[in-house]
Amino acid sequence: MVKIYLDPGHGGSDTGAVGQGLQEKHVTLAIALKIRNILNNSYQGHQIRMSRSTDSTVSLTARTNDANQWGADYFVSIHINAGGGAGYEDYIYSGLSNQGTTGKYRQIMHEEIIK
Ligand SMILES: [Zn+2]
Repeated sequence: MVKIYLDPGHGGSDTGAVGQGLQEKHVTLAIALKIRNILNNSYQGHQIRMSRSTDSTVSLTARTNDANQWGADYFVSIHINAGGGAGYEDYIYSGLSNQGTTGKYRQIMHEEIIK
């Protein structure tokens, strides 16, 4: 059973980026809820926990503590890039190697999402 932790960036009093009539916190939540629905409706063998499933304020420390206490195997934090640029990016913790498990998972996810 793989434990997947979905973290919609920002929320509540933290709007994240604002522009084009949108607030990042709403877009990240919509994406996370969609991911949860796809995983739950089309796949088995996993559990999902979310840092928030409503427009609520959750500190970064509370998010990571919750994921660690739950024993998450995979932590995905969703953000919308608003600093210019275009396309899709994914990052892993800077202390990890691209050749490690997390780096390999990142590469798989990147290729699938780009499709
Ligand atoms: Zn963000």
